[in-house]
Amino acid sequence: MHKLGLVRDIDLALHLPLRYEDETRIVKLSDAREGDTAQIEGLVTSCEVKIAGHRQLLVTLDDGSDTCMLRFFSFYPTQQKALAVGNRIRARGEIKGGFAGLTMMHPAFQAAGGDLPSALTPVYPTVAGLPQAYLRRAVQGGLARAELADTVSPENLYEIGLQPSWNLREALSFLHHPTPDVALATLVDHSHPAWQRLKFEELLAQQLSQLQAKRARARLRAPVLTPVRPEPVEGPQQPAWPLHEQLLAALPFQLTAAQRRVSAEIARDLARPLPMHRLLQGDVGSGKTVVAALAAAICIDADWQCALMAPTEILATQHFAKLVSWLEPLGVKTAWLTGKQKAKERREMLALIASGEAGLVIGTHAVIQDKVVFKNLALAIIDEQHRFGVAQRLALRSKLNDNGQEPHLLMMTATPIPRTLAMSYYADLDVSTIDELPPGRTPVITKVVNDARRDEVIARIRAQLDEGRQIYWVCPLIEESEALDLRNATETHAHLSAALPGVRVGLLHSRMPVAEKRAVMAQFTSGQMGVLVSTTVIEVGVDVPNASLMVIEHAERFGLSQLHQLRGRVGRGAAASACVLLYATGDAPRLGETARARLKAMAETNDGFEIARRDLEIRGPGEFLGARQSGAALLRFADLATDTALLAWARRLAPLMLDQHPALAEKHVQRWLGGKAEFLKA
Ligand code: ADP
Ligand code: MG
Repeated sequence: MHKLGLVRDIDLALHLPLRYEDETRIVKLSDAREGDTAQIEGLVTSCEVKIAGHRQLLVTLDDGSDTCMLRFFSFYPTQQKALAVGNRIRARGEIKGGFAGLTMMHPAFQAAGGDLPSALTPVYPTVAGLPQAYLRRAVQGGLARAELADTVSPENLYEIGLQPSWNLREALSFLHHPTPDVALATLVDHSHPAWQRLKFEELLAQQLSQLQAKRARARLRAPVLTPVRPEPVEGPQQPAWPLHEQLLAALPFQLTAAQRRVSAEIARDLARPLPMHRLLQGDVGSGKTVVAALAAAICIDADWQCALMAPTEILATQHFAKLVSWLEPLGVKTAWLTGKQKAKERREMLALIASGEAGLVIGTHAVIQDKVVFKNLALAIIDEQHRFGVAQRLALRSKLNDNGQEPHLLMMTATPIPRTLAMSYYADLDVSTIDELPPGRTPVITKVVNDARRDEVIARIRAQLDEGRQIYWVCPLIEESEALDLRNATETHAHLSAALPGVRVGLLHSRMPVAEKRAVMAQFTSGQMGVLVSTTVIEVGVDVPNASLMVIEHAERFGLSQLHQLRGRVGRGAAASACVLLYATGDAPRLGETARARLKAMAETNDGFEIARRDLEIRGPGEFLGARQSGAALLRFADLATDTALLAWARRLAPLMLDQHPALAEKHVQRWLGGKAEFLKA
């Protein structure tokens, strides 16, 4: 029972059947069809033990309309006795046809006669060692005991224009024991009004808990970050501009309209005394880094510290290089933290951070370690937020423990969250979207190519190199591992080096020492290296505009959003760019269904939002939720793809309910989420 999460009465009440069996009727054998699960009643006309290969008990049952053979391969003497000739028996099982006429293998049976139940019999999901009969009794008990009084007030339902025909208790009772006249299809596809009610309640719980979290956050305090406007200065000196304006002026490009819009949204949040909780989403290459830099500038200008955390060493290095080049000329001191740092360097960095001398701190997970003490952290930026867990986000936020204040939080992601997910799981988050790419980008042309045509791809690489372009070649694994038939990065590197004489082919993989990785990246970035063979370490954040071709080997092994992120590494300059998705089918004649759907999506669109939508279709919501998913916080009953109308009702009802019936709202959340509510709020 514990394994199934059946602890409280409400858990039992919410443990819904997988399917139902109809024991409400006795079927006449002449009406029974092969494949039906049926209940029959009749007279035993023969009962014998035969050895035909196996020892078995063969019983003939005659119900007047036809006969059926009951076949048992294992049986106790008592059962044999109960099935003696002349007894009247009720048996239930799947009817099979065939040579010997109708048969049932190992049917459940009992003496004929007795009451027939008035409802369908539930069959519950179970685990080994937990028999249906026991589970049925337990669920029945749980359902009877569970407190299922309606939490939603009829007036509120009326207010939002929803008049459900079932309340929760009715809906649950029905779903456990539906009457036999129900259209079974509506139970299977969950469109029955009882299911609708249940799904609505579940979505409502989720909305309420997120809204509670949002309101709780609104009660917290955060430092007000507004640019310090210096007094106008008399005389020949230059007036000091706010730092972020200086940064804007120094940038070699103009912000796009979308970047300006999201920057303004962020600046507005930072100027308020409550913690920002904002997700900045923008397709790969849409220019999120500069938006982060502008936010950092506002923070540092107000004399507070800003921390930027990235999931990988490479990505953190890239951010560091970029932000230092932008901000250091303006007098900002930046500290650097990574797990692989030398002790001495780290001590120096920690001192800079503790004294407040470093206005900006950039690093990997090392940023949230206990030893890192900020003087006054006011803005925490997390890049590729889905790569971090709830605990890590909380740890970063707890770095400002100053009279109850919390730092502002800006999370960035290149995997746009589909709208339905944004409305449900991320309802407590403000979202800013960069929906336009910087000018001058050329759309990447994507080709899906069988690995057998690898030589043609190499010829294409040669042509690109002749035009002075650079190439990424991405491999999924770095070493021949287990039985996986993967061409690994080292092997491919050797192969390409041989096939492209006179060309510098570099290798980058995650097990290389950091210094070596940096050296390779530097050579590629500076253009000295023509081809970079790498594992997915370049997945995020690498920026080499001269790279115009990306080959992804074993593309069928990558997830859709991963492929999209990888592809975003090309098409950053003015040159026409291409992405080649090499696939191999191994021993199979063709690619599997989902792999094919992924590659097709990649070839058909460059739009990150469209990709995310298809990804949701192919995979379901799990992956988008990142670490949230691990708390088993996923919806059990509602399906975001199909229940959008119910979700919209729940969104309308949640604020009304919290305002007018806060106690009922809390009761509702507890009923549905129990201990998980806290987790969802993080
Ligand atoms: P991402 O959103 O994927 O993190 P980056 O911030 O790395 O994208 O930006 C991609 C590239 O585009 C960088 O080289 C960046 O300097 C450049 N860039 C950003 N904004 C603009 C802009 N408005 N005009 C031109 N180039 C820009
Ligand atoms: Mg980025």
